[in-house]
Amino acid sequence: MATSVPKTMSGVLVEKTGGIEVLQYKTDLPVPTPKEGQVLVKNDFIGVNYIDTYFRTGLYPSPKPEILGREAEGTIVSLGPSGDMYGFKPGDRVVWMAGGAYAEYTAVPAVKTHIVPSSIEPGIAAASILQGLTALTLIREAYLVQKGDWVLVHAAAGGVGLWLCQLLKAVGARVIGTASTSEKIELAKKNGAEFMINYKEEKDFVGKVKGITGGEGVAVVFDSTGKDQFENDLVVVVRKGTVVSYGNSSGAVPPLAISRLSAKNIKVLRPTLFNYIYTREEFEKYTAELFDFITKDKLNVRIHHTYPLKDIAKAHTDLEGRATTGKLLLKP
Ligand code: NDP
Repeated sequence: MATSVPKTMSGVLVEKTGGIEVLQYKTDLPVPTPKEGQVLVKNDFIGVNYIDTYFRTGLYPSPKPEILGREAEGTIVSLGPSGDMYGFKPGDRVVWMAGGAYAEYTAVPAVKTHIVPSSIEPGIAAASILQGLTALTLIREAYLVQKGDWVLVHAAAGGVGLWLCQLLKAVGARVIGTASTSEKIELAKKNGAEFMINYKEEKDFVGKVKGITGGEGVAVVFDSTGKDQFENDLVVVVRKGTVVSYGNSSGAVPPLAISRLSAKNIKVLRPTLFNYIYTREEFEKYTAELFDFITKDKLNVRIHHTYPLKDIAKAHTDLEGRATTGKLLLKP
């Protein structure tokens, strides 16, 4: 039975690419109608991700006008025309990953929607799903991390970074992290990084990583910064090692001549989470595993701040200004 929903809602609309000035908070957007295969969710907590800034600026092209945001947690209020999808019903508390999250209501594909276990506190699912699944799939699929591996994690106090530190520690890897301030360095250490390097200040970054690893280098680098660290990554990775470049917070990595890989037979990957959780089975498997990590391994889900949705420009400014650690949430 469908719960009654209003005709209009608040949300953040972007009509053209640009700076934070293109983020328009509106209170009269139409509430979407769920189509075939969709459920309509009333969002309680919305996750902010760095990728939202790429769609805002146009680094990643997307059709405009657009409601940004790719994940939220809330309650199902109605189902698409065909009714039953994976047993979902109005009233279910769910977390989902798709587009159009910066709003009170979103029509989302049921296939990318998951029931939140009752043991998970409000806000934690929205704070976990995209960044947590990114970290989990990176350490399982981009490079299958083994106990004892040396791993370099850039931006280790960021959203994905803190997940990587904790998950890597849980699987027995040895983490060298990077961050830009002493507060961030302390936080990453508390979350599992064994060594931390301030990459804004360290003059001999390569020498430092080599020194920590007894001259060998690291088995794998997880680099979300892109342009700034990529050349270092190729140097500090061990022979036959793996460089996983999965983000662009400092700008996009320039084109790479593949002939450069032969010097050490290294692998370079540029993965997206979406392609690791493409099927319902993949999404369910990793989401269930992530919630298990949170509840059984008592992972710390750090929430930097919960902003009112109308303060979206402040949230983007803080994220792009390197002023945050862990997760930024929005409350509609
Ligand atoms: P973060 O919380 O990690 O925020 C970005 C951090 O990057 C900053 O806090 C900062 O940490 C660091 N940074 C380094 N250089 C810069 C710079 N020039 N400008 C701004 N920040 C910089 O964000 P997320 O966890 O949301 O995302 C991290 C990255 O992972 C993003 O690049 C994102 O696109 C990517 N990502 C990719 C996915 C995929 O599927 N491939 C999925 C999810 C995320 P510090 O101050 O310590 O340097």
